[in-house]
Amino acid sequence: MTDVTIRSVTKRYGALTVIPQLSFKIEDGEFVVLVGPSGCGKSTLLRMLAGLEEISGGDLLMGTEVINDRPAKERDMAIVFQNYALYPHMTVAENMGFALKLRKRPRAEINERVDKAAAILGLGKLLDRYPRALSGGQRQRVAMGRAIVRDPQVFLFDEPLSNLDAKLRVQMRAEIKALHQRLKITTVYVTHDQIEAMTMADKIVVMNEGRVEQMGTPLELYDRPANIFVAGFIGSPS
Ligand code: ADP
Ligand code: MG
Repeated sequence: MTDVTIRSVTKRYGALTVIPQLSFKIEDGEFVVLVGPSGCGKSTLLRMLAGLEEISGGDLLMGTEVINDRPAKERDMAIVFQNYALYPHMTVAENMGFALKLRKRPRAEINERVDKAAAILGLGKLLDRYPRALSGGQRQRVAMGRAIVRDPQVFLFDEPLSNLDAKLRVQMRAEIKALHQRLKITTVYVTHDQIEAMTMADKIVVMNEGRVEQMGTPLELYDRPANIFVAGFIGSPS
């Protein structure tokens, strides 16, 4: 079971509380999109889930297990950022296999997993290229490939398409959705793009100042927004 539960999680930076007692649950295999204004705590929450940032209170659970103190590399979550810096001196294959190499996986297993991820992402012919010889969309696919090869239980995306042009964004949305249909990996996807949220999400979580304003399917939020904030947020153009 890879349900992810956020239970009364608090985050403080010094005297500043950015997340006060946040609770919600992501079901196994679900694609949950987090939206909310800049500074409301979306990236902080993802980093806490990934183990890149400590929580100040509450509990994070995977299944029934509390993972608060589990180090990032043992969490079995892969995070894809907006600024997916690829290693410039490594080929596509080396970029994708690097995390496995660090984990001392055998060479044959690394090659096999890289080839499989490359096939899924349409990178099969580009494995020997260097990042500088790739387009923006191809680079983004390599960044996703680095996450996929680890075969994670949970995918975390932090505005992964923000740096791409509009046309490519639409294409990548569809690719990420198709990937999810295929792999059914529990996913938390942060975006500030309402269209992205409405088209990609099984459920949307609308955050504001570290709190959940509403959680529901895109249709529920559209039909029955819980308050003016949600209505304004869902209804406004991106
Ligand atoms: P979002 O991703 O929703 O735009 P963030 O999670 O990045 O928001 O930030 C939430 C709040 O936490 C903001 O007020 C931000 O300034 C603050 N914050 C984020 N990281 C730090 C940090 N390392 N130190 C102090 N404050 C931080
Ligand atoms: Mg952010």
